[in-house]
Amino acid sequence: MNQRTHSWIAIRSIALLEDRNEVKNLVKMLKPLARLATIGAWVPDDIDAKRGGSGSSTDNHILKIEPIQYDPAGRFVCRKADLLNHIGNHRKAYEFLSNDSSLDDDWWNKSYRGDVDRPGQHLANRAMAMSTMMKDLLLMGNETIDALIPGSIRFARYMAKGTRTEEEAAAMYYFMLSHFIADSCMPCHCDARKLQGYGEGLHKELEEHWSKAVGKQFEKSALLGTLPDMTEAEAATDGNEILANARQVDAKFGLDFGQAVIGDLQKGHDVWLELIFICRATFSIASIMAPFRQYPYGSEVKAPFDTLFGQNSSLLKQLDTATMYDAVLNTAIIWKYIWNKVSVD
Ligand SMILES: [Zn+2]
Repeated sequence: MNQRTHSWIAIRSIALLEDRNEVKNLVKMLKPLARLATIGAWVPDDIDAKRGGSGSSTDNHILKIEPIQYDPAGRFVCRKADLLNHIGNHRKAYEFLSNDSSLDDDWWNKSYRGDVDRPGQHLANRAMAMSTMMKDLLLMGNETIDALIPGSIRFARYMAKGTRTEEEAAAMYYFMLSHFIADSCMPCHCDARKLQGYGEGLHKELEEHWSKAVGKQFEKSALLGTLPDMTEAEAATDGNEILANARQVDAKFGLDFGQAVIGDLQKGHDVWLELIFICRATFSIASIMAPFRQYPYGSEVKAPFDTLFGQNSSLLKQLDTATMYDAVLNTAIIWKYIWNKVSVD
C-alpha cells in the first residue's frame, strides 16, 4: 500500500471506532489530528526510518511466508479449521478462505513459516514491541491524555516538563502502528515468492489500483495543505469532514461496515499472535490470488497484474473488499485493545 492508502486506512479506522461507538476517548484524541495520519501511517515506509536497520527496516516490517521441508514435529502446520478459529468469523479473511477450495487438504497439511533472516525480526515482533511501548507512553501522557484515561498516574507529576507524551505524539504512534497492521493484510507482503516483489509486475500495480480508488484527497499535499494554526473547534470540525470523506471511499472497495464487530483480540492471543495468524491467513489468500500450482513456491515465474485479474475481475473485487475491510477492522481492534489496557483503573 502506498502513502495515500495507508493514510486512508488509519483515518477510516478512526471513523469505524466512532460509528461503532467504541473507545470514545481514543476517538476524541485521534479525530482532531486525523490529518497527521499522512505522516504517521507512512513513517515505517519512509527510507529515513530504516536507517541503520532501525525499527522500520524491512526485516522488522513484514512477514513473508514460505513452505519448509524439515518440520518433523509439525510445528509449522496450521490446518484450515485451526486457522479460521484463530482469525474469527468477524474478519473477511475468514469468509475468503471459507469460500475457497483451491487450497486442498494437502496444501493445508504442509509446514509454512516466515522467510526471516534473523530470528525474531518481522512484522509481528515490531508491532508487539511498539504496542507494548505505547501503553507506557500513554500512561506517561500529558494532562490532556491523562484526562482521557481513567485512573491517576501518581508519578506523572514528578516527570520533567516535556517528557510527558503529547497527544500529537500519541496519535503519531497509533498511526505508525496502523501501518504494520495494514501490511499484515497485504497479500504481496506475506508471501515469499519472487512474483510478489515490488517490481515484479503485481505488487506495485495492485497498490496503484488501490490508491486510485482512495483518491487524491488522501494525498499528503491535500491532507497537510490546511494544517497550521487551527483552533480546537476548527480542528474538531475538520476531523468530522475528513472522517466523512474517508467513509465515502467505502463504495469503491465494496465495503459495508454496518455489521462490523470490533471485538477483542482472539482468545489466548496477544498482539504478536494475532498478527502472526493474520499474516498466515494473508499468505493463504496470496496463494489463491496467484494460484500456487500455476506459480510454484521457489520458482521465478512472474504473475503480472493483468494476467491474474484481467478485465472486471471478480477475484480482484473480492480481494479489494477483504484486504481493505480487514486492514481497517484489524487496526481498530488493536488500537482499541491498547487503549482499553491502559484504561482499566
Ligand atoms: Zn509497509
